[in-house]
Amino acid sequence: MKLDEQPRFPLARTPTPLHDAKRLREALGGPDRCPRILFKRDDLSDLALGGNKARKLEYLIGDARRKGARAVITTGGKQSNHARMTAAAAAIAGLKAALVLTTDEEAPEIQGNLLLDRVLGAEVHFVRGAESKSGAAAEAEAEKVIQLMASFEADGLRPYFIELGGSSAVGTLGYVDASRELTKQLLEPGYEPTRLYYASGSRGTQAGLELGAQLFGASYRPIGIAVSDGEPEKRDHAVRIAREAAELLGVVANIDPEQLITDQGYYGEGYAIPTAAGIEAIRIVARSEGVLLDPVYTGKAMAGLIDHIRKELIDPGETVIFLHTGGAPGFFAQSAAVLSMMEST
Ligand SMILES: *Cc1c(COP(=O)(O)O)cnc(C)c1O
Repeated sequence: MKLDEQPRFPLARTPTPLHDAKRLREALGGPDRCPRILFKRDDLSDLALGGNKARKLEYLIGDARRKGARAVITTGGKQSNHARMTAAAAAIAGLKAALVLTTDEEAPEIQGNLLLDRVLGAEVHFVRGAESKSGAAAEAEAEKVIQLMASFEADGLRPYFIELGGSSAVGTLGYVDASRELTKQLLEPGYEPTRLYYASGSRGTQAGLELGAQLFGASYRPIGIAVSDGEPEKRDHAVRIAREAAELLGVVANIDPEQLITDQGYYGEGYAIPTAAGIEAIRIVARSEGVLLDPVYTGKAMAGLIDHIRKELIDPGETVIFLHTGGAPGFFAQSAAVLSMMEST
């Protein structure tokens, strides 16, 4: 397969650690009730405080450079981790970065990722819309992107557009490569995990994990916990970009939409709206492992895993992986909601 022949720009510090979260297992009832839980720490991928986007951006920035781009444009919610990491990647590659961010507030607080976007030197453009609903501000966003593309083009900057969350065929290669890394890491300790839990948003991670699991003969099934609505469009998107990525790699892959698992039970009222179960999960993991999850993505994913364990959907004899995709910088923009919910769980 042509993975090592794809244009790639080094941004992530890999391999990221894999470790046994033993104290979390104890906190969830011990080996009689809880499977072994391995943490795959993509929150430690570096690139301005880490997260899963670092892996996608290695291929996206590689592609942008190959095409002679001097600027990148991307979109997201106002607390987008992807936008922050794109700003960092652009800084390293010497590209201009423009971020089109959706916000439901007149004047969003310059905190968390939004603060870091500024520090990293990105140009930030806001569009108004509901962040919690997938695609709510799609039109205003598309209009702004088209306008920026044209103006950068006129300035001779050759803009490269990066899809929401970096979830394109090229971005998908990041989690194909991560699957190679992970399956290799599992060999020496001899773990044979049955499931890999992760927070699922724009689906590039899903596409890469699904394709990668097939290509590298993984023992586990990827189990996405949705952090936002948008079915069935998002599933179709995952299938499309996974198939396109397979084409880039010159391999035949069987991506069956019916086989993709994305549990819709844990996102609550919508994207970026904290849930009590997510806050409880953050608290349990922080106080057992000293590892920080976030209220938008990884807390909700961990809430899904904990609930599946409590409902005895996972045999305690199994080993599962929890892919920590990052997100902690967004925490600082949610302090009031987190504190009030922490009191009640
Ligand atoms: C973007 C993101 C995800 C979701 O990844 P997708 O590829 O968009 O599905 C999960 N966790 C964090 C912290 C993220 O920033």
